Amino acid sequence: MTDKLSALEHIKADSRYLRGTIAEGLADPLTGAISDPDTKLLKFHGSYMQDNRDIRDERRKQKLEPDYQFMVRLRLPGGVLTAPQWLAMDELAERYAERGLRITTRQTFQFHGIRKEHLRDMIHGINDCGLSTRAACGDDTRNVITSVNPEISSVYDEVFGWALKLKDHVATQTSAYEELWLNDGPADPDAWKKDAEPLYGKAYLNRKYKFGFAIPPNNDIDVFNQDFGLIAIIEDGKLAGFNIAPGGSMGTTAGDPSTYPSLGDLIGFVTPDQLLETCWQSIVVQGTFGDRGDRKHARLKYTIDRNGGLPWYRDQLQSRLSFKLAPPRPYHFTHNGDRFGWVQGEHGKWHLTLSIQSGRLLDDATQKRRTGMREIARIHKGNFRLTCDQNVVIAGVDEADKAAIDALAAQYQLDEYKTASGIRKHAISCVALPTCGLAMAESERYLPTILTKMEVLLAKYDLLQEDIHFRMSGCPNGCSRPYISEIALVGRAIGRYDLRLGGDHAGERLNAVYLENTDEEHILTALDELFGRFAAEREPGEHFGDFIARVGVVVPPARRPALEYA
Ligand code: SF4
Repeated sequence: MTDKLSALEHIKADSRYLRGTIAEGLADPLTGAISDPDTKLLKFHGSYMQDNRDIRDERRKQKLEPDYQFMVRLRLPGGVLTAPQWLAMDELAERYAERGLRITTRQTFQFHGIRKEHLRDMIHGINDCGLSTRAACGDDTRNVITSVNPEISSVYDEVFGWALKLKDHVATQTSAYEELWLNDGPADPDAWKKDAEPLYGKAYLNRKYKFGFAIPPNNDIDVFNQDFGLIAIIEDGKLAGFNIAPGGSMGTTAGDPSTYPSLGDLIGFVTPDQLLETCWQSIVVQGTFGDRGDRKHARLKYTIDRNGGLPWYRDQLQSRLSFKLAPPRPYHFTHNGDRFGWVQGEHGKWHLTLSIQSGRLLDDATQKRRTGMREIARIHKGNFRLTCDQNVVIAGVDEADKAAIDALAAQYQLDEYKTASGIRKHAISCVALPTCGLAMAESERYLPTILTKMEVLLAKYDLLQEDIHFRMSGCPNGCSRPYISEIALVGRAIGRYDLRLGGDHAGERLNAVYLENTDEEHILTALDELFGRFAAEREPGEHFGDFIARVGVVVPPARRPALEYA
Protein backbone atom coordinates (compact mmCIF):
# COMPACT_ATOMS: atom_id res chain seq x y z
CA MET A 1 0.00 0.00 0.00
CA THR A 2 1.22 3.46 -0.84
CA ASP A 3 0.23 6.78 0.74
CA LYS A 4 0.44 8.48 -2.67
CA LEU A 5 -3.02 8.97 -4.11
CA SER A 6 -3.72 7.58 -7.57
CA ALA A 7 -4.49 10.03 -10.36
CA LEU A 8 -8.14 9.04 -10.27
CA GLU A 9 -8.44 10.07 -6.64
CA HIS A 10 -7.50 13.62 -7.67
CA ILE A 11 -9.92 13.57 -10.61
CA LYS A 12 -12.79 12.57 -8.32
CA ALA A 13 -11.93 15.02 -5.55
CA ASP A 14 -11.63 17.91 -8.01
CA SER A 15 -14.74 17.00 -10.00
CA ARG A 16 -17.24 19.20 -8.17
CA TYR A 17 -19.17 16.11 -7.08
CA LEU A 18 -18.90 14.18 -10.34
CA ARG A 19 -19.50 17.01 -12.79
CA GLY A 20 -16.03 17.44 -14.26
CA THR A 21 -16.50 18.75 -17.79
CA ILE A 22 -19.00 16.09 -18.83
CA ALA A 23 -21.58 18.65 -19.99
CA GLU A 24 -19.02 20.43 -22.16
CA GLY A 25 -17.78 17.12 -23.58
CA LEU A 26 -21.27 15.99 -24.51
CA ALA A 27 -21.84 19.27 -26.33
CA ASP A 28 -18.64 19.03 -28.41
CA PRO A 29 -19.70 18.05 -31.97
CA LEU A 30 -16.13 17.53 -33.23
CA THR A 31 -15.63 14.14 -31.62
CA GLY A 32 -17.71 11.15 -30.59
CA ALA A 33 -15.69 10.96 -27.37
CA ILE A 34 -15.45 12.80 -24.09
CA SER A 35 -12.20 13.55 -22.25
CA ASP A 36 -10.36 10.82 -20.39
CA PRO A 37 -11.01 12.28 -16.90
CA ASP A 38 -14.69 12.65 -17.77
CA THR A 39 -14.91 8.99 -18.83
CA LYS A 40 -13.92 8.12 -15.26
CA LEU A 41 -16.60 10.38 -13.80
CA LEU A 42 -19.21 9.22 -16.28
CA LYS A 43 -19.13 5.76 -14.71
CA PHE A 44 -20.72 7.15 -11.56
CA HIS A 45 -23.65 8.19 -13.75
CA GLY A 46 -24.02 4.64 -15.11
CA SER A 47 -22.15 4.80 -18.41
CA TYR A 48 -18.83 3.72 -19.90
CA MET A 49 -17.29 5.15 -23.02
CA GLN A 50 -16.22 2.30 -25.33
CA ASP A 51 -15.29 1.81 -28.96
CA ASN A 52 -15.95 -0.95 -31.45
CA ARG A 53 -12.69 -2.90 -31.27
CA ASP A 54 -13.58 -4.96 -34.34
CA ILE A 55 -12.93 -1.92 -36.52
CA ARG A 56 -10.34 -0.12 -34.39
CA ASP A 57 -7.35 -0.99 -36.60
CA GLU A 58 -9.22 -0.25 -39.80
CA ARG A 59 -10.25 3.18 -38.58
CA ARG A 60 -6.70 3.89 -37.44
CA LYS A 61 -5.44 3.09 -40.93
CA GLN A 62 -8.04 5.47 -42.33
CA LYS A 63 -6.87 8.10 -39.85
CA LEU A 64 -10.31 8.19 -38.25
CA GLU A 65 -10.90 8.37 -34.52
CA PRO A 66 -12.10 5.11 -32.92
CA ASP A 67 -15.78 4.28 -33.33
CA TYR A 68 -16.73 5.75 -29.96
CA GLN A 69 -19.95 4.66 -28.35
CA PHE A 70 -21.35 4.38 -24.85
CA MET A 71 -22.62 1.58 -22.67
CA VAL A 72 -25.46 2.52 -20.31
CA ARG A 73 -26.32 0.37 -17.31
CA LEU A 74 -29.40 0.53 -15.09
CA ARG A 75 -29.33 0.50 -11.34
CA LEU A 76 -32.09 -2.03 -10.76
CA PRO A 77 -32.24 -3.30 -7.16
CA GLY A 78 -33.13 -6.98 -7.04
CA GLY A 79 -33.37 -6.95 -10.85
CA VAL A 80 -37.06 -6.07 -10.57
CA LEU A 81 -38.97 -4.10 -13.18
CA THR A 82 -42.62 -3.87 -14.16
CA ALA A 83 -44.05 -4.90 -17.51
CA PRO A 84 -44.49 -1.25 -18.64
CA GLN A 85 -40.86 -0.61 -17.64
CA TRP A 86 -39.76 -3.64 -19.68
CA LEU A 87 -41.57 -2.22 -22.71
CA ALA A 88 -39.99 1.19 -22.15
CA MET A 89 -36.48 -0.35 -21.96
CA ASP A 90 -37.18 -2.29 -25.13
CA GLU A 91 -38.29 0.89 -26.87
CA LEU A 92 -35.20 2.83 -25.72
CA ALA A 93 -32.95 -0.01 -26.90
CA GLU A 94 -34.63 0.12 -30.29
CA ARG A 95 -34.24 3.87 -30.57
CA TYR A 96 -30.72 4.44 -29.27
CA ALA A 97 -28.78 1.20 -28.74
CA GLU A 98 -27.25 -1.57 -30.79
CA ARG A 99 -27.48 -5.31 -30.06
CA GLY A 100 -30.75 -5.20 -28.13
CA LEU A 101 -31.09 -5.68 -24.39
CA ARG A 102 -28.49 -7.43 -22.29
CA ILE A 103 -29.03 -8.84 -18.82
CA THR A 104 -25.86 -8.50 -16.76
CA THR A 105 -24.42 -10.77 -14.10
CA ARG A 106 -25.51 -8.16 -11.57
CA GLN A 107 -29.22 -8.43 -12.21
CA THR A 108 -29.69 -5.44 -14.43
CA PHE A 109 -29.92 -4.34 -18.05
CA GLN A 110 -27.16 -2.69 -19.98
CA PHE A 111 -27.33 -1.21 -23.44
CA HIS A 112 -24.47 -0.97 -25.92
CA GLY A 113 -23.62 1.18 -28.91
CA ILE A 114 -25.20 4.46 -27.81
CA ARG A 115 -23.80 7.50 -29.59
CA LYS A 116 -22.73 10.52 -27.62
CA GLU A 117 -25.48 12.69 -29.02
CA HIS A 118 -28.09 10.24 -27.72
CA LEU A 119 -26.63 9.62 -24.28
CA ARG A 120 -28.66 12.25 -22.48
CA ASP A 121 -31.93 11.20 -24.15
CA MET A 122 -31.22 7.58 -23.25
CA ILE A 123 -30.61 8.29 -19.55
CA HIS A 124 -33.48 10.79 -19.44
CA GLY A 125 -35.77 8.15 -20.96
CA ILE A 126 -34.72 5.58 -18.37
CA ASN A 127 -35.57 8.01 -15.58
CA ASP A 128 -38.88 8.93 -17.21
CA CYS A 129 -40.21 5.48 -16.44
CA GLY A 130 -39.06 5.45 -12.82
CA LEU A 131 -35.70 3.72 -13.28
CA SER A 132 -32.19 5.12 -12.94
CA THR A 133 -28.57 4.68 -13.93
CA ARG A 134 -27.20 6.60 -10.92
CA ALA A 135 -24.21 4.78 -9.40
CA ALA A 136 -24.63 1.77 -11.70
CA CYS A 137 -20.84 1.91 -12.24
CA GLY A 138 -17.98 3.80 -10.57
CA ASP A 139 -16.38 3.86 -7.13
CA ASP A 140 -19.59 3.63 -5.14
CA THR A 141 -22.06 1.02 -3.99
CA ARG A 142 -23.22 -0.88 -7.05
CA ASN A 143 -26.61 -2.34 -7.81
CA VAL A 144 -27.94 -4.07 -4.68
CA ILE A 145 -28.77 -7.62 -5.71
CA THR A 146 -31.22 -10.08 -4.19
CA SER A 147 -32.11 -13.74 -4.59
CA VAL A 148 -35.07 -14.06 -6.93
CA ASN A 149 -36.29 -16.93 -4.71
CA PRO A 150 -39.90 -17.19 -5.80
CA GLU A 151 -40.80 -20.11 -3.56
CA ILE A 152 -40.64 -18.32 -0.19
CA SER A 153 -42.62 -15.30 -1.31
CA SER A 154 -43.19 -13.62 2.06
CA VAL A 155 -39.50 -13.66 2.98
CA TYR A 156 -38.60 -12.58 -0.54
CA ASP A 157 -40.90 -9.57 -0.27
CA GLU A 158 -39.34 -8.58 3.03
CA VAL A 159 -35.74 -9.02 1.86
CA PHE A 160 -36.44 -7.15 -1.36
CA GLY A 161 -37.88 -4.34 0.78
CA TRP A 162 -34.62 -4.20 2.73
CA ALA A 163 -32.64 -4.13 -0.51
CA LEU A 164 -34.61 -1.06 -1.60
CA LYS A 165 -34.05 0.62 1.76
CA LEU A 166 -30.33 -0.15 1.60
CA LYS A 167 -30.10 1.23 -1.93
CA ASP A 168 -31.57 4.54 -0.73
CA HIS A 169 -29.61 4.57 2.52
CA VAL A 170 -26.20 4.40 0.80
CA ALA A 171 -27.09 6.36 -2.34
CA THR A 172 -24.81 9.10 -3.59
CA GLN A 173 -26.25 12.56 -2.93
CA THR A 174 -24.74 14.75 -5.64
CA SER A 175 -27.15 16.80 -7.72
CA ALA A 176 -24.84 16.37 -10.71
CA TYR A 177 -26.97 13.44 -11.90
CA GLU A 178 -30.14 15.54 -12.15
CA GLU A 179 -28.18 18.46 -13.56
CA LEU A 180 -26.55 16.49 -16.37
CA TRP A 181 -29.31 14.11 -17.40
CA LEU A 182 -32.70 15.26 -16.14
CA ASN A 183 -32.98 19.03 -15.87
CA ASP A 184 -34.06 20.88 -18.98
CA GLY A 185 -32.82 24.34 -18.06
CA PRO A 186 -29.22 25.62 -17.95
CA ALA A 187 -27.17 24.46 -15.00
CA ASP A 188 -26.55 26.78 -12.09
CA PRO A 189 -22.73 27.09 -12.13
CA ASP A 190 -22.67 27.20 -8.32
CA ALA A 191 -25.03 24.28 -7.72
CA TRP A 192 -22.15 22.00 -6.78
CA LYS A 193 -21.32 24.21 -3.78
CA LYS A 194 -24.55 23.11 -2.11
CA ASP A 195 -23.75 19.41 -2.66
CA ALA A 196 -22.36 17.14 0.04
CA GLU A 197 -21.60 13.44 0.36
CA PRO A 198 -21.82 12.64 4.08
CA LEU A 199 -21.03 8.96 3.56
CA TYR A 200 -18.53 9.03 0.74
CA GLY A 201 -16.80 12.43 0.80
CA LYS A 202 -15.60 14.31 -2.27
CA ALA A 203 -13.46 11.45 -3.60
CA TYR A 204 -16.13 8.79 -3.10
CA LEU A 205 -14.96 5.22 -2.48
CA ASN A 206 -11.59 3.96 -3.65
CA ARG A 207 -13.24 1.18 -5.74
CA LYS A 208 -16.62 -0.38 -6.38
CA TYR A 209 -18.45 -1.87 -3.39
CA LYS A 210 -21.06 -4.57 -3.74
CA PHE A 211 -23.94 -5.57 -1.45
CA GLY A 212 -26.04 -8.65 -2.14
CA PHE A 213 -28.81 -10.50 -0.27
CA ALA A 214 -29.11 -14.27 -0.55
CA ILE A 215 -32.14 -16.20 0.66
CA PRO A 216 -31.21 -19.78 1.59
CA PRO A 217 -31.43 -22.43 0.30
CA ASN A 218 -30.71 -20.45 -2.93
CA ASN A 219 -27.32 -18.85 -3.33
CA ASP A 220 -28.32 -17.64 -6.77
CA ILE A 221 -26.60 -14.28 -6.26
CA ASP A 222 -23.28 -15.89 -5.21
CA VAL A 223 -23.35 -14.05 -1.91
CA PHE A 224 -19.69 -14.82 -1.15
CA ASN A 225 -18.72 -12.86 -4.24
CA GLN A 226 -19.96 -9.62 -2.64
CA ASP A 227 -17.81 -7.07 -0.84
CA PHE A 228 -20.46 -7.27 1.86
CA GLY A 229 -22.67 -10.33 1.52
CA LEU A 230 -25.94 -10.63 3.46
CA ILE A 231 -27.54 -14.01 4.08
CA ALA A 232 -31.18 -13.93 5.15
CA ILE A 233 -31.75 -16.07 8.23
CA ILE A 234 -35.20 -17.58 8.26
CA GLU A 235 -36.45 -18.95 11.59
CA ASP A 236 -39.94 -20.40 11.99
CA GLY A 237 -40.73 -19.15 8.50
CA LYS A 238 -39.90 -15.56 9.38
CA LEU A 239 -36.96 -13.28 8.61
CA ALA A 240 -34.86 -13.13 11.80
CA GLY A 241 -32.01 -11.07 10.33
CA PHE A 242 -28.88 -11.42 8.26
CA ASN A 243 -25.53 -13.12 8.55
CA ILE A 244 -22.87 -10.77 7.23
CA ALA A 245 -19.98 -11.95 5.07
CA PRO A 246 -17.44 -9.32 3.95
CA GLY A 247 -14.44 -9.72 1.67
CA GLY A 248 -15.63 -11.33 -1.55
CA SER A 249 -14.60 -10.24 -5.03
CA MET A 250 -13.60 -11.95 -8.25
CA GLY A 251 -11.24 -9.51 -9.97
CA THR A 252 -7.57 -10.28 -10.50
CA THR A 253 -4.93 -8.66 -12.67
CA ALA A 254 -3.25 -10.76 -15.34
CA GLY A 255 0.35 -11.59 -14.44
CA ASP A 256 0.15 -10.07 -10.96
CA PRO A 257 0.16 -12.83 -8.33
CA SER A 258 -0.49 -10.32 -5.56
CA THR A 259 -4.05 -10.04 -6.86
CA TYR A 260 -6.51 -12.88 -6.33
CA PRO A 261 -10.17 -13.87 -6.27
CA SER A 262 -11.64 -14.18 -2.82
CA LEU A 263 -14.80 -15.43 -1.15
CA GLY A 264 -16.37 -13.46 1.67
CA ASP A 265 -16.45 -14.99 5.14
CA LEU A 266 -18.92 -14.81 8.01
CA ILE A 267 -18.26 -12.34 10.81
CA GLY A 268 -21.62 -12.00 12.52
CA PHE A 269 -25.40 -11.67 12.52
CA VAL A 270 -27.55 -8.54 12.63
CA THR A 271 -31.27 -8.09 13.08
CA PRO A 272 -33.20 -6.24 10.36
CA ASP A 273 -33.29 -3.01 12.36
CA GLN A 274 -29.47 -3.16 12.68
CA LEU A 275 -28.92 -3.74 8.97
CA LEU A 276 -28.69 -0.20 7.60
CA GLU A 277 -26.33 1.01 10.32
CA THR A 278 -24.09 -2.02 9.74
CA CYS A 279 -23.92 -1.50 5.99
CA TRP A 280 -23.27 2.23 6.38
CA GLN A 281 -20.42 1.62 8.81
CA SER A 282 -18.96 -1.09 6.59
CA ILE A 283 -18.57 1.58 3.92
CA VAL A 284 -16.97 3.90 6.48
CA VAL A 285 -14.38 1.21 7.30
CA GLN A 286 -13.55 0.68 3.64
CA GLY A 287 -13.48 4.46 3.02
CA THR A 288 -11.04 4.84 5.94
CA PHE A 289 -8.66 1.94 5.28
CA GLY A 290 -9.05 1.10 1.57
CA ASP A 291 -5.99 1.63 -0.62
CA ARG A 292 -6.31 4.88 -2.59
CA GLY A 293 -2.90 4.65 -4.20
CA ASP A 294 -3.15 1.37 -6.09
CA ARG A 295 -6.50 0.45 -7.60
CA LYS A 296 -5.37 -3.13 -8.15
CA HIS A 297 -5.30 -3.61 -4.38
CA ALA A 298 -8.20 -1.40 -3.43
CA ARG A 299 -11.13 -3.77 -2.92
CA LEU A 300 -12.29 -4.67 0.58
CA LYS A 301 -10.75 -8.16 0.36
CA TYR A 302 -7.27 -6.58 0.24
CA THR A 303 -8.14 -4.13 3.03
CA ILE A 304 -9.09 -7.09 5.23
CA ASP A 305 -6.16 -9.33 4.32
CA ARG A 306 -3.55 -6.56 4.50
CA ASN A 307 -4.58 -5.39 7.96
CA GLY A 308 -4.90 -8.53 10.02
CA GLY A 309 -7.75 -10.50 8.52
CA LEU A 310 -11.26 -11.07 9.82
CA PRO A 311 -10.53 -10.39 13.53
CA TRP A 312 -9.20 -6.93 12.65
CA TYR A 313 -12.09 -6.21 10.34
CA ARG A 314 -14.71 -7.33 12.82
CA ASP A 315 -13.11 -5.10 15.49
CA GLN A 316 -13.10 -2.11 13.15
CA LEU A 317 -16.72 -2.58 12.23
CA GLN A 318 -17.76 -3.35 15.82
CA SER A 319 -16.09 -0.21 17.15
CA ARG A 320 -18.36 1.90 14.92
CA LEU A 321 -21.63 0.17 15.75
CA SER A 322 -24.09 1.12 18.48
CA PHE A 323 -24.84 -2.56 19.25
CA LYS A 324 -22.85 -5.79 19.64
CA LEU A 325 -22.54 -8.02 16.62
CA ALA A 326 -24.00 -11.46 17.31
CA PRO A 327 -22.40 -14.71 16.10
CA PRO A 328 -23.57 -15.95 12.70
CA ARG A 329 -26.64 -18.18 12.76
CA PRO A 330 -27.07 -21.53 10.99
CA TYR A 331 -28.20 -21.61 7.38
CA HIS A 332 -27.76 -23.99 4.49
CA PHE A 333 -27.29 -23.35 0.79
CA THR A 334 -28.22 -26.20 -1.51
CA HIS A 335 -27.32 -24.55 -4.81
CA ASN A 336 -26.30 -21.48 -6.74
CA GLY A 337 -27.47 -20.84 -10.28
CA ASP A 338 -31.10 -20.61 -11.39
CA ARG A 339 -33.92 -23.17 -11.31
CA PHE A 340 -35.85 -23.14 -14.59
CA GLY A 341 -39.52 -23.54 -15.39
CA TRP A 342 -42.63 -22.80 -13.33
CA VAL A 343 -42.61 -22.56 -9.53
CA GLN A 344 -45.57 -21.64 -7.33
CA GLY A 345 -44.92 -19.21 -4.49
CA GLU A 346 -46.59 -19.06 -1.08
CA HIS A 347 -49.11 -16.47 -2.26
CA GLY A 348 -50.42 -18.85 -4.94
CA LYS A 349 -48.85 -16.86 -7.78
CA TRP A 350 -46.69 -18.63 -10.35
CA HIS A 351 -43.17 -17.68 -11.48
CA LEU A 352 -41.51 -18.83 -14.69
CA THR A 353 -37.71 -18.76 -15.05
CA LEU A 354 -36.48 -18.65 -18.65
CA SER A 355 -32.93 -19.31 -19.78
CA ILE A 356 -31.46 -16.43 -21.85
CA GLN A 357 -28.03 -17.26 -23.25
CA SER A 358 -25.52 -14.63 -22.10
CA GLY A 359 -28.52 -12.49 -21.16
CA ARG A 360 -28.69 -11.18 -24.72
CA LEU A 361 -32.14 -10.42 -26.10
CA LEU A 362 -31.69 -9.63 -29.75
CA ASP A 363 -33.76 -10.57 -32.79
CA ASP A 364 -31.90 -12.02 -35.77
CA ALA A 365 -32.57 -14.18 -38.81
CA THR A 366 -32.87 -17.37 -36.76
CA GLN A 367 -34.84 -16.27 -33.68
CA LYS A 368 -36.96 -13.44 -32.28
CA ARG A 369 -36.59 -13.84 -28.53
CA ARG A 370 -36.51 -10.11 -27.91
CA THR A 371 -39.84 -9.77 -29.70
CA GLY A 372 -41.10 -12.72 -27.68
CA MET A 373 -40.25 -11.02 -24.39
CA ARG A 374 -41.92 -7.84 -25.64
CA GLU A 375 -45.08 -9.80 -26.41
CA ILE A 376 -45.00 -11.38 -22.97
CA ALA A 377 -44.55 -7.93 -21.38
CA ARG A 378 -47.64 -6.73 -23.25
CA ILE A 379 -49.87 -9.31 -21.54
CA HIS A 380 -48.05 -9.84 -18.23
CA LYS A 381 -49.74 -8.39 -15.13
CA GLY A 382 -46.93 -9.06 -12.65
CA ASN A 383 -43.30 -7.98 -12.83
CA PHE A 384 -40.00 -9.32 -14.10
CA ARG A 385 -36.94 -10.30 -12.09
CA LEU A 386 -33.56 -10.41 -13.81
CA THR A 387 -31.21 -12.97 -12.31
CA CYS A 388 -27.48 -12.91 -11.62
CA ASP A 389 -27.10 -15.78 -14.08
CA GLN A 390 -28.41 -13.50 -16.85
CA ASN A 391 -31.83 -15.14 -16.98
CA VAL A 392 -35.30 -13.74 -16.42
CA VAL A 393 -38.15 -14.65 -14.09
CA ILE A 394 -41.68 -13.80 -15.21
CA ALA A 395 -43.01 -13.28 -11.71
CA GLY A 396 -46.45 -13.11 -10.15
CA VAL A 397 -48.52 -14.94 -12.77
CA ASP A 398 -52.11 -16.05 -12.06
CA GLU A 399 -52.95 -19.67 -12.79
CA ALA A 400 -55.32 -18.50 -15.52
CA ASP A 401 -52.56 -16.59 -17.36
CA LYS A 402 -49.95 -19.35 -17.45
CA ALA A 403 -51.10 -20.89 -20.71
CA ALA A 404 -50.85 -17.64 -22.68
CA ILE A 405 -47.32 -17.02 -21.41
CA ASP A 406 -46.32 -20.60 -22.17
CA ALA A 407 -47.66 -20.23 -25.70
CA LEU A 408 -45.61 -17.08 -26.32
CA ALA A 409 -42.51 -18.67 -24.82
CA ALA A 410 -42.90 -21.62 -27.17
CA GLN A 411 -43.67 -19.44 -30.20
CA TYR A 412 -40.51 -17.36 -29.71
CA GLN A 413 -38.07 -20.13 -28.69
CA LEU A 414 -37.96 -18.85 -25.13
CA ASP A 415 -38.77 -22.31 -23.77
CA GLU A 416 -35.39 -23.84 -24.56
CA TYR A 417 -34.89 -24.40 -20.86
CA LYS A 418 -37.02 -27.52 -21.42
CA THR A 419 -34.60 -29.11 -23.88
CA ALA A 420 -31.21 -27.40 -23.49
CA SER A 421 -28.32 -29.34 -21.99
CA GLY A 422 -27.54 -28.80 -18.33
CA ILE A 423 -24.28 -27.02 -19.10
CA ARG A 424 -25.94 -24.66 -21.62
CA LYS A 425 -28.72 -23.64 -19.23
CA HIS A 426 -26.25 -22.74 -16.51
CA ALA A 427 -23.58 -21.08 -18.67
CA ILE A 428 -22.92 -17.38 -18.21
CA SER A 429 -20.50 -15.07 -19.95
CA CYS A 430 -19.33 -11.49 -19.85
CA VAL A 431 -19.60 -9.22 -22.91
CA ALA A 432 -15.85 -8.94 -23.71
CA LEU A 433 -15.21 -8.18 -27.41
CA PRO A 434 -16.00 -6.07 -29.30
CA THR A 435 -16.96 -3.38 -26.79
CA CYS A 436 -15.17 -4.03 -23.50
CA GLY A 437 -11.92 -2.10 -23.48
CA LEU A 438 -10.31 -4.61 -21.10
CA ALA A 439 -11.17 -7.79 -23.03
CA MET A 440 -8.18 -10.00 -23.87
CA ALA A 441 -10.25 -12.76 -25.51
CA GLU A 442 -13.75 -13.48 -26.78
CA SER A 443 -16.44 -14.44 -24.30
CA GLU A 444 -20.12 -13.88 -25.23
CA ARG A 445 -19.48 -14.39 -28.95
CA TYR A 446 -17.45 -17.57 -28.36
CA LEU A 447 -19.78 -19.13 -25.81
CA PRO A 448 -22.18 -20.84 -28.28
CA THR A 449 -19.25 -22.41 -30.16
CA ILE A 450 -17.42 -23.82 -27.16
CA LEU A 451 -20.69 -24.99 -25.59
CA THR A 452 -21.58 -26.99 -28.69
CA LYS A 453 -18.16 -28.66 -28.65
CA MET A 454 -18.43 -29.41 -24.94
CA GLU A 455 -21.89 -30.88 -25.48
CA VAL A 456 -20.42 -33.37 -27.98
CA LEU A 457 -18.04 -34.56 -25.27
CA LEU A 458 -20.75 -34.69 -22.60
CA ALA A 459 -23.00 -36.72 -24.90
CA LYS A 460 -20.20 -39.27 -25.28
CA TYR A 461 -20.44 -40.01 -21.55
CA ASP A 462 -24.22 -39.61 -21.22
CA LEU A 463 -23.76 -36.38 -19.23
CA LEU A 464 -25.81 -33.98 -21.34
CA GLN A 465 -28.44 -33.44 -18.65
CA GLU A 466 -25.85 -33.01 -15.89
CA ASP A 467 -26.20 -29.51 -14.37
CA ILE A 468 -22.59 -28.42 -14.78
CA HIS A 469 -21.89 -24.76 -14.09
CA PHE A 470 -19.70 -23.17 -16.76
CA ARG A 471 -18.65 -19.52 -16.87
CA MET A 472 -16.56 -17.58 -19.31
CA SER A 473 -14.80 -14.22 -18.93
CA GLY A 474 -12.82 -12.32 -21.55
CA CYS A 475 -10.14 -11.27 -19.03
CA PRO A 476 -9.10 -11.97 -15.42
CA ASN A 477 -11.42 -9.25 -14.08
CA GLY A 478 -13.96 -12.04 -13.91
CA CYS A 479 -17.25 -10.21 -14.47
CA SER A 480 -19.03 -13.54 -15.01
CA ARG A 481 -17.86 -14.82 -11.60
CA PRO A 482 -15.70 -17.52 -13.20
CA TYR A 483 -13.64 -18.27 -10.10
CA ILE A 484 -16.55 -19.97 -8.31
CA SER A 485 -17.63 -22.09 -11.24
CA GLU A 486 -17.22 -25.83 -11.75
CA ILE A 487 -15.62 -25.14 -15.14
CA ALA A 488 -14.39 -21.71 -16.19
CA LEU A 489 -12.49 -20.18 -19.06
CA VAL A 490 -10.73 -16.91 -18.28
CA GLY A 491 -9.34 -15.05 -21.30
CA ARG A 492 -5.61 -14.40 -21.52
CA ALA A 493 -5.20 -13.52 -25.23
CA ILE A 494 -7.14 -13.98 -28.45
CA GLY A 495 -8.01 -17.70 -28.57
CA ARG A 496 -6.25 -18.47 -25.29
CA TYR A 497 -7.74 -19.09 -21.86
CA ASP A 498 -6.97 -20.39 -18.40
CA LEU A 499 -9.05 -23.50 -17.82
CA ARG A 500 -10.16 -23.47 -14.18
CA LEU A 501 -11.90 -26.34 -12.43
CA GLY A 502 -13.33 -27.37 -9.09
CA GLY A 503 -15.91 -24.84 -7.88
CA ASP A 504 -18.85 -26.32 -6.03
CA HIS A 505 -22.61 -26.15 -6.62
CA ALA A 506 -23.43 -23.73 -3.85
CA GLY A 507 -20.92 -20.93 -4.49
CA GLU A 508 -18.89 -21.80 -1.38
CA ARG A 509 -15.59 -22.93 -2.92
CA LEU A 510 -13.18 -21.24 -5.33
CA ASN A 511 -11.87 -23.23 -8.28
CA ALA A 512 -8.21 -23.42 -9.35
CA VAL A 513 -6.21 -23.29 -12.58
CA TYR A 514 -5.91 -26.65 -14.35
CA LEU A 515 -4.41 -25.46 -17.66
CA GLU A 516 -2.87 -22.02 -18.04
CA ASN A 517 -3.06 -19.79 -21.12
CA THR A 518 -4.05 -22.59 -23.48
CA ASP A 519 -6.08 -23.05 -26.66
CA GLU A 520 -9.36 -24.72 -27.55
CA GLU A 521 -7.80 -28.01 -28.63
CA HIS A 522 -6.05 -28.52 -25.29
CA ILE A 523 -9.14 -27.42 -23.36
CA LEU A 524 -11.36 -29.94 -25.12
CA THR A 525 -8.80 -32.74 -24.82
CA ALA A 526 -8.57 -32.13 -21.08
CA LEU A 527 -12.34 -31.98 -20.63
CA ASP A 528 -12.82 -35.14 -22.69
CA GLU A 529 -10.61 -37.06 -20.31
CA LEU A 530 -12.12 -35.51 -17.17
CA PHE A 531 -15.74 -36.00 -18.28
CA GLY A 532 -14.84 -39.66 -18.93
CA ARG A 533 -13.35 -40.05 -15.47
CA PHE A 534 -16.30 -38.27 -13.89
CA ALA A 535 -18.80 -40.60 -15.60
CA ALA A 536 -16.84 -43.67 -14.50
CA GLU A 537 -15.68 -42.69 -11.00
CA ARG A 538 -18.24 -40.28 -9.56
CA GLU A 539 -20.07 -41.06 -6.35
CA PRO A 540 -23.88 -41.16 -6.40
CA GLY A 541 -25.26 -37.63 -6.84
CA GLU A 542 -21.79 -36.09 -6.94
CA HIS A 543 -21.40 -32.89 -8.98
CA PHE A 544 -18.56 -32.43 -11.45
CA GLY A 545 -16.77 -29.72 -9.44
CA ASP A 546 -16.97 -31.77 -6.24
CA PHE A 547 -15.54 -34.77 -8.08
CA ILE A 548 -12.66 -32.66 -9.43
CA ALA A 549 -11.83 -31.45 -5.93
CA ARG A 550 -12.31 -34.86 -4.26
CA VAL A 551 -9.96 -36.78 -6.55
CA GLY A 552 -7.36 -33.99 -6.49
CA VAL A 553 -7.42 -32.90 -10.13
CA VAL A 554 -6.89 -29.43 -8.67
CA VAL A 555 -6.50 -28.20 -5.11
CA PRO A 556 -8.98 -25.35 -4.53
CA PRO A 557 -7.63 -22.52 -2.34
CA ALA A 558 -8.61 -22.43 1.33
CA ARG A 559 -10.85 -19.73 2.75
CA ARG A 560 -9.85 -17.41 5.56
CA PRO A 561 -9.67 -19.07 9.00
CA ALA A 562 -13.10 -18.94 10.65
CA LEU A 563 -13.58 -16.42 13.46
CA GLU A 564 -14.01 -17.57 17.03
CA TYR A 565 -16.89 -16.25 19.12
CA ALA A 566 -16.89 -15.67 22.85
FE1 SF4 B 1 -14.56 -6.97 -19.89
FE2 SF4 B 1 -12.96 -8.58 -18.54
FE3 SF4 B 1 -15.34 -7.88 -17.49
FE4 SF4 B 1 -15.25 -9.51 -19.54
S1 SF4 B 1 -14.40 -9.94 -17.49
S2 SF4 B 1 -16.59 -7.72 -19.35
S3 SF4 B 1 -13.51 -8.78 -20.68
S4 SF4 B 1 -13.62 -6.52 -17.89
